[in-house]
Amino acid sequence: MNRANSHALFNRAAQVTPGGVNSPVRAFRAVGGDPVFIERGEGAYLTDVDGNRYLDCIGSWGPLLMGHAHPRIVAAITAQLAKGTTYGAPTALEAQLAEEICAAVPSVEMVRLVSSGTEATMSAIRVARGYTGRNKIVKFEGNYHGHADFLLAKAGSGVATLGLPECAGVPVAVTADTITLPYNDISAVLELFENYSAEIACVILEPVVGNMGCVPPAKGFLETLRDVTQKSGSVLIFDEVMTGFRIAYGGAQTKYGVTPDMTTLGKIVGGGLPLGAYGGKREIMQVVAPLGSVYQAGTLSGNPIAVSAGLAMLSLLKEGGAALYERLEEIGERVAESFRESARNENIPVIVNQVGSMLTVFFTEAKEVTDYASAKTSDTARFAKWFRALLDSGIYFPPSQFEAAFLSAIMSDSDIEHLTNSARSAFQSLASH
Ligand SMILES: *Cc1c(COP(=O)(O)O)cnc(C)c1O
Repeated sequence: MNRANSHALFNRAAQVTPGGVNSPVRAFRAVGGDPVFIERGEGAYLTDVDGNRYLDCIGSWGPLLMGHAHPRIVAAITAQLAKGTTYGAPTALEAQLAEEICAAVPSVEMVRLVSSGTEATMSAIRVARGYTGRNKIVKFEGNYHGHADFLLAKAGSGVATLGLPECAGVPVAVTADTITLPYNDISAVLELFENYSAEIACVILEPVVGNMGCVPPAKGFLETLRDVTQKSGSVLIFDEVMTGFRIAYGGAQTKYGVTPDMTTLGKIVGGGLPLGAYGGKREIMQVVAPLGSVYQAGTLSGNPIAVSAGLAMLSLLKEGGAALYERLEEIGERVAESFRESARNENIPVIVNQVGSMLTVFFTEAKEVTDYASAKTSDTARFAKWFRALLDSGIYFPPSQFEAAFLSAIMSDSDIEHLTNSARSAFQSLASH
């Protein structure tokens, strides 16, 4: 595959932007080589600046459950554009999106719109602290909740991909109240709450992790968290920025039947535009200004273009209904099973974790991948080779062992076959080296 134009653009961009990219994992550092510069996206496919076409298994890292440039989303954006791009004043659209979110997500009775997932999680934590009058927060290793200072302790996503032990520029004092536990470790949670119950403002987690690769919650993990937080008066926050509207229309909380106190959203809810949201019980959300004393604001919050895109996305998903989510689960299982079989045929040890349309192939000899420690046993060099073989066969897969791949609802059976055939060849090429 010729990627001369991407290469030239990367060299140009690298002169004026750190690493040539505006978000670290896009740089392909962990897999060697330069990033692919994109010219356009249509449906399930991306076309790069050299005219190469790829089946997109990243979907802009989560938002594009209905693919690129879906006509209904494009129409909604276009219609709003002609009426102005921002007002700094409330609109009917915002009330409508808030109603849709409250109706969809069991834990959400009131919601505030923001412009990114990072803003959603940092605001939710401020609210949890303001509401409880406590300082300590609990997060889990390998979970990523955006790049707010106090959440960058043992974080997943790009922090994991680049193998950064800690983030420079974050004073120790800022993470002093951040307690980090291993994911899925029920006894560690119980022990912590025995000792610090009265000091813990909130527990935040990805109810299905995507940001150390896909790791589902162990049986009883979410239930235990619900139980201990309820008893201690701490706020349980599900960070559903990735899983919201993806694992199920109502998020992972509907799939697993555990209702947190607060939920953060982003990615899909913005229909491909910058939009996030945090919400929860009315009693908790009433501490947010101007009702209460927890301040949080944003010039472009509830931006009408982003809200229009989000509304169009949610209406598509509602129309798709149960059938759409069953299809996602079905293609997810089909891809995961095919990957396992292809790896087995070449005697390459892998663990494939999959929940609905999220999946990760861990190149590890571990028996299972349930937390950050087991994810880290992966052979990242081997993953990188597999990734490059996929890329050269026209599959745009996450360039990191520690990111989930995303399938989209508009992928056809022949797209799925293209993916599984390419992966089989990629496993074969690993075996023959
Ligand atoms: C992507 C992500 C975030 C951060 O969202 P941004 O829009 O990138 O700021 C937070 N939490 C989770 C679980 C995410 O996947």
